[in-house]
Amino acid sequence: LHVETQLGDGVAVPVDGNPAHYLISVMRVKPDDIVLLFDGRSGEWAARVRDMRKRDLVLECVRQTKAIEHVPDFWLCCAPIRKGRIDLIAEKACELGVAKLQPVLTRRAVVDKLNLDRLHAHLVEAAEQCGRTALPELGGLIKLEALLRDWPEDRWLFFADETGGAPLAEALPAHQGGAAFLIGPEGGFDPAERDAIRAVARAVPVSLGPRILRAETAAIAAASAWMTLNGD
Ligand code: SAM
Repeated sequence: LHVETQLGDGVAVPVDGNPAHYLISVMRVKPDDIVLLFDGRSGEWAARVRDMRKRDLVLECVRQTKAIEHVPDFWLCCAPIRKGRIDLIAEKACELGVAKLQPVLTRRAVVDKLNLDRLHAHLVEAAEQCGRTALPELGGLIKLEALLRDWPEDRWLFFADETGGAPLAEALPAHQGGAAFLIGPEGGFDPAERDAIRAVARAVPVSLGPRILRAETAAIAAASAWMTLNGD
């Protein structure tokens, strides 16, 4: 279960609302049962059911079961696409060990707003399912111009460019260190955006093969290629 309380030895974690309903009515926990908790920054903790009432309970951390994991320093920057599909990107990015998911507003984006709470909930759900203890960071929706203007000098920007770019298998190994993949929206990037991205000092246009992939396919393919190479 994901909790906001910072976990630690003997820490009491009050649980109410839906999570309490899930534990009490669905999982039917009883006093002294053990629940696994994570807060996204302290690893995973076994917590004992201590005080239990009809609609809420208190869990007490008894031991750490997993340390906070190291995830490779990889960001996935993608345009907001239709609801179910950006949720899929969030879920797969979490499973694949992406460190940060950064939504980027581009000119041809079909969708121009995002429900970050919903996306965060998908990241938490995916982390619970795959046993990831460090939640991916979720950036707020920013314009492509702002992303490029403030791009960190020491971070490679692999730009998924279906109009031409180095094959992934060549580009990735040649550029180690902090990296990011930038994936366009359903309508792709417009020519001026393409030029602006290529003008970034550490931009590396890469091809994901001869076919035009859906944005979510491109995002998942890019993340899995980078994770495979970087041994996560
Ligand atoms: N311009 C595309 C078209 O002609 O239909 C639409 C964009 S594609 C659906 C969405 C994004 O996925 C692209 O902006 C690009 O970032 C990435 N992408 C798709 N196929 C790719 C490929 N073969 N190589 C590199 N990137 C690709």
